[in-house]
Amino acid sequence: MNTESEKEQFLKEFGSDYGYANAPKNIDEIRATEFKRLNDTVYLDHAGATLYSESQMEAVFKDLNSTVYGNPHSQSSCSLASEDIVGKARQQVLSFFNASPREYSCIFTSGATAALKLVGETFPWSSNSSFMYSMENHNSVLGIREYALSKGAAAFAVDIEEGTHVGESESPKSNLKLTQHHIQRRNEGGVLKEGMTGNAYNLFAFPSECNFSGRKFDPNLIKIIKEESERVLESSQYCRGCWLVLIDAAKGCATNPPNLSKFKADFVVFSFYKLFGYPTGLGALIVRNDAAKLMKKTYFSGGTVAAAIADVDFFKRREGVEEFFEDGTISFLSIAAIQHGFKIINMLTTSSIFRHTTSIAAYVRNKLLALKHENGEFVCTLYGLLSSEMGPTVSFNMKRPDGTWYGYREVEKLATLAGIQLRTGCFCNPGACAKYLGLSHLDLLSNIEAGHVCWDDRDILHGKPTGAVRVSFGYMSTFEDAMKFVNFVENNFVISSSNRCALQPRSISLPVEGIAKAAARHFLTSITVYPIKSCAGFSVDQWPLTSTGLLHDREWILKSTTGEILTQKKSHLVARRNCRLNSNPAHLSLKEMKWISKIIDMKSEVTTMRLISGSAGRLIDLALY
Ligand SMILES: *Cc1c(COP(=O)(O)O)cnc(C)c1O
Repeated sequence: MNTESEKEQFLKEFGSDYGYANAPKNIDEIRATEFKRLNDTVYLDHAGATLYSESQMEAVFKDLNSTVYGNPHSQSSCSLASEDIVGKARQQVLSFFNASPREYSCIFTSGATAALKLVGETFPWSSNSSFMYSMENHNSVLGIREYALSKGAAAFAVDIEEGTHVGESESPKSNLKLTQHHIQRRNEGGVLKEGMTGNAYNLFAFPSECNFSGRKFDPNLIKIIKEESERVLESSQYCRGCWLVLIDAAKGCATNPPNLSKFKADFVVFSFYKLFGYPTGLGALIVRNDAAKLMKKTYFSGGTVAAAIADVDFFKRREGVEEFFEDGTISFLSIAAIQHGFKIINMLTTSSIFRHTTSIAAYVRNKLLALKHENGEFVCTLYGLLSSEMGPTVSFNMKRPDGTWYGYREVEKLATLAGIQLRTGCFCNPGACAKYLGLSHLDLLSNIEAGHVCWDDRDILHGKPTGAVRVSFGYMSTFEDAMKFVNFVENNFVISSSNRCALQPRSISLPVEGIAKAAARHFLTSITVYPIKSCAGFSVDQWPLTSTGLLHDREWILKSTTGEILTQKKSHLVARRNCRLNSNPAHLSLKEMKWISKIIDMKSEVTTMRLISGSAGRLIDLALY
């Protein structure tokens, strides 16, 4: 691809959205002066964590080195500096979300997750309450379910189908469709009593932007749920009572912070490192003051208590919303740092950041959608495209010309070699993952049964991907980042006669030219195949490659007769053990025989084990000794 003409083309299409025409520095200057540490790294994981700028950090150091910040709970003059900066920070956060301090309060937490946990912990659950959440939600939101269920409340996920228009329109849509997926109650004694729902409090949670797909959710949902729950939930027994609404803005806040003067959510959570990279370990819960009054708290602590007696069951809480929620000493030095992050965001403006990042994402989406193999088959399947507005996130999987999937791990490993940082897997969002990848409960359970966990290498199970590849963009992302990524995909995964480098099932041998060329500084010195995870492997000079790496490598796991999966971590003996086959060898292919024979060795006491093949779903009984 010719960079110049490609960029010209891009600017023709998106030029008015790309870059920051009204800012003191344009995008190329921002990148060249503020992010020198990136060098040639193409950083495309802003949904995981975005990057802090150099001047932001210089301002933080300067501030900390020139001010004496004491504990804001103390009464000294140094503590006043902290109190002052914390107060300003709260105002800054509220105004970022366009929230009036009369209506909302900013509670500092250790992150979005801690804020979500706080809501779950203090929510006024009863056995007549419901916790409803969109399928697309982060695990940290799903976890609130445990508080709801343990109090006898009902919990269910909903699929939200929106009409054609998404945006900040005034009138809530009437063509919204919610499909419920019920979760079994823990406490069946707490089954809803007719007529008892009037004063129950229910919670509805959705992300402003899905961190799996980039799908943006309509903020009108808040009003619809609060005012029209009977209609949209089709008079289900769970629709009654008072609905409070929570927005998980952890992903969406960098480009579309919820506008709380217009869309009155009760709770909004986010983390600062997703907004401007630094500090980590700090987030906030924006709570509507009226909703805060409903919350129930068990714990008292420094920070939240006005008086307590050590040996009498007596304590008195402090007054005020922040004092109700913030246990202990808040992270005041981190809080002091956020003004320097906001400075950049406010200078560029979130609307420009949104236009800039989504123009890059749209370019990548269009390019990926158009990619075809030589045989005419499309390469990429993109997720979440049906909604009309998308955030700066592109989530996808790729297929080979024969229709089999490339594993996301393979993509990730090659991306790392090419200096591209991206994210793969389910991104802590199991509902979106299952929904977009079309995985049924049965698929999910059998993947778990086969030993698949979120972070492992089993990227394809039973012929289906278990996760996706995600690239996401931040305010300092450039067209050049996007183009390098698109080139990487074209060069490595699109099969055409002119593109012999592309990965297709083939054999590698020493020395491996393709990969050695891709990373001139790296050399392949040996190939070791470990057919059984955590057991001894064997070395070869040459070995076939598959979509997931070396053929049969870590294809099998050891499971004890009690069903426990044995790994080196669980039992260090595994690594030193060897296996003998118990089942009929006639059922094994020549290749399987070959590698199993390599690991049959010495004798000692025998335990029966079962090998489970991840890809073929075959079971083989073995004696482990
Ligand atoms: C990152 C993220 C979270 C979790 O945030 P933490 O900072 O890890 O607490 C929750 N929800 C969404 C949508 C996210 O992107």
